[in-house]
Amino acid sequence: MKKPIYVTKPYLPPLEEFIPYLQEIWESGVLTNGGPFHKQLEEALCKYLGVEHIALFANGTIALITALQALRITGEVITTPYSFIATTHSLHWNGIKPVFSDVDPDTLNLDPEKIEAAITPQTTAILPVHCYGHPCDVDAIQQIADNYNLRVIYDAAHAFGVQDEGGSLLRHGDLSVLSFHATKVFNTFEGGAIICPDAKTKLLIDRLKNFGIEDETTVVAAGINGKMSEFNAALGLLQLNYIKQVLEHRKMVDIAYRERLKDVKGIRCLQAVKGEFSNYAYFPILVEGDYSISRDELYYLLKDENIHPRRYFYPLISEFPTYRGLSSAHPDNLPNAVDAAHKVLCLPIYPELEAEQIDTITQIIAST
Ligand SMILES: *Cc1c(COP(=O)(O)O)cnc(C)c1O
Repeated sequence: MKKPIYVTKPYLPPLEEFIPYLQEIWESGVLTNGGPFHKQLEEALCKYLGVEHIALFANGTIALITALQALRITGEVITTPYSFIATTHSLHWNGIKPVFSDVDPDTLNLDPEKIEAAITPQTTAILPVHCYGHPCDVDAIQQIADNYNLRVIYDAAHAFGVQDEGGSLLRHGDLSVLSFHATKVFNTFEGGAIICPDAKTKLLIDRLKNFGIEDETTVVAAGINGKMSEFNAALGLLQLNYIKQVLEHRKMVDIAYRERLKDVKGIRCLQAVKGEFSNYAYFPILVEGDYSISRDELYYLLKDENIHPRRYFYPLISEFPTYRGLSSAHPDNLPNAVDAAHKVLCLPIYPELEAEQIDTITQIIAST
């Protein structure tokens, strides 16, 4: 049996390069609560991402929950069913009713033209996802938000480092939330962040993630513990040294897949983001009706060869028991999302994926 090929393999810098960071932590005795590595990582990420203010978190889910708290979002929030379950769970944990709206069949991001019909007097915000790191139609979404006085919080868990013509994709909306989970393009094992528009918002969010504490004797809000530790911050600093080559390798994998799959009947690669702006976080293909076998048959066929693609995102969030009773969760309301969920397969993509392994994967897909 060949060694398994998983959908992703977390990038790990050489272990010996992490030892000096650990020594510093041991010597200083500062383990968390905004220590020196935490400060350094915030500065380094602002510089790398091209943003002004960032608040680091223990993980992306707590960051999403806190972002909604910071803006005091209540009532109903319009969101996509085509995402990782944490997107909608963050609403649920805030006592907010998710309202699912359909995606665009080409980008698999929220279709702005469908959003308006989902707005009610209870709607307070839109929670879109830059799915696979592909930019949402940020201008159209902002226009709707402005017209109806709604806030916009982007789940940018897939969008680390993605740019558009004007700069970082993360500058859009009221807040953008990142995840640094092990499976993401940039990881701190576990971690996350909120991109804040100004220093005042960052201060509010920094307090919220630290129990709402302002100083020794003052608690100004019902905060949570969402802090990133010095260990995770140090990992982030080390990972940042390698981000350029990580993205270059991912790009090579993306190009190779597109080239080898472009003439395979019934296999559609999702549109590429403009080269210099992409992060190559995922490589989704859509297995269309005119392919020789079904998506699931292809999925299990690859599994038999010890290749493990993932059906991101199947099932849809709206199909899980917690949410399927909502009227907006009905499949008739979400035809494009339902269709994509039954066609999508995310192929393995990570820096260490070898050309030979890409050949093996694409040959199976092309010859079936
Ligand atoms: C990974 C992910 C999250 C959650 O991030 P964690 O850091 O794992 O908590 C949220 N939304 C999306 C779209 C994700 O892919």
